[in-house]
Amino acid sequence: MTIQTNTLERESRQNKRFVSKQTQTAAKYLRRLCELSGAPEGMQPFVETLQRVYVDMLGIVAPYSRKRVGTYCVMAPQELIYAAGAVPVKLCSGNYTAFNIGDDIAPRDACPLVKAVAGFKQTGLMPVYEECSMMVVPVTCDCKKKVAGMLAQQCDVMTMHIPANRQDEDIDEFVRQLYTFAEKLETVTGNPITYETLADGFAKVGYAQRELSEFIRLKKQMPYLVRGTHAMAIMNAAAYMPADSWAAALHRVNVSLRLRAAAGQTVTSKKLPGILLTGSPIVFPNLKIPLLIEEMGGIVAADETCMGERGMYDPPVITDDSFDGMIRALANRSLRPCPCPTFADNKQRLYRLRQLIKDNHIQGVIYHVLRGCLVYDFEYKRIEEELGKLGIPVIRLESDYNEEDVEQLRIRIEAFIELIKLRQAPQKRTSLRTGF
Ligand code: SF4
Ligand code: SF4
Repeated sequence: MTIQTNTLERESRQNKRFVSKQTQTAAKYLRRLCELSGAPEGMQPFVETLQRVYVDMLGIVAPYSRKRVGTYCVMAPQELIYAAGAVPVKLCSGNYTAFNIGDDIAPRDACPLVKAVAGFKQTGLMPVYEECSMMVVPVTCDCKKKVAGMLAQQCDVMTMHIPANRQDEDIDEFVRQLYTFAEKLETVTGNPITYETLADGFAKVGYAQRELSEFIRLKKQMPYLVRGTHAMAIMNAAAYMPADSWAAALHRVNVSLRLRAAAGQTVTSKKLPGILLTGSPIVFPNLKIPLLIEEMGGIVAADETCMGERGMYDPPVITDDSFDGMIRALANRSLRPCPCPTFADNKQRLYRLRQLIKDNHIQGVIYHVLRGCLVYDFEYKRIEEELGKLGIPVIRLESDYNEEDVEQLRIRIEAFIELIKLRQAPQKRTSLRTGF
């Protein structure tokens, strides 16, 4: 047997081990998701999408004639990608097995999200990565910058500079980058981006945003109609579904939730502490924190994370309906309202958190920090102070892409939920005395 045959056999064994471990983890998290009570009717297409990508390891469902463009941040406008006749695929990853491979490539203190991305690209085994004709990486932190360089060794990558501020001159510069992105998309797809195709891109994403805003409206209702962990899985599936298919599936969920509300049904008969989950992105299959919150007797009543509600929350506002006006609307939407901590001044995030707390009857905030994610960790102190002024308890939970920290997370989440229940107790006693 030659050295070359030995090497090929070893690689083949390693690949089989990788596929087996990564599918097992994804299947386990999907099972836990499905075992959680109260899943809305119509949830199946989202579960099937996550199963298809992570367990069956297949590509996205879209015509092969349409090129796939990988994105690594919500600030890369999907509308432009659709305008070029392509389909966007969000490639931020929450995969533990790919993380282990990336751990050997990236420095120890890099965040697990980029280690998982690097790991997937290294194996060349994930169709959603391999199918992409190009990738766009908005450079929002050092980890993203370095992973862009790694990806560029194997794929056509465009980086986008994200400014630290959002003054008019920053928006002008971002508009120029969007024009460069449009040209790049035209070259890769061979399709011109015209006024009509861009308007069509706005319509596709707009349909998804309308359904999402109705879903969020229903999600806010008290008593709660849907668990946040199910909602986060629905939003995660948006990464791998064309916007119109995702919106059509979400429409069916919205219909079922309206029926649930009309029939007086709720997701749980108990009054569970409503938790707001914020911080570093929570990407499938890394659903351990939302699952633990719900399994420990809380309810994820809202989230302020990028693979969750934030992903498509802000629609672009067109004040000038020329082609340039539409590009400018995308630039404004990407930067101005974005609560990402990559910006130097991030009052938007405080405003958004206050709004979510009020609208969703939040009793406690869990602030999630992926190990090595400095931008989110930096903002914790400020947010803790602000929440203190509102009398809302908050805990910071640091986690990594493995299951070694699960028990510690479980204990801390359980204690936090108990603390909220204790705080509720005097209110309950007052209500009993007053009869309200
Ligand atoms: S957390 Fe910031 S950098 Fe990451 S996807 Fe969201 S907006 Fe982009
Ligand atoms: S923002 Fe945080 S989680 Fe996202 S790539 Fe940067 S360090 Fe990683």
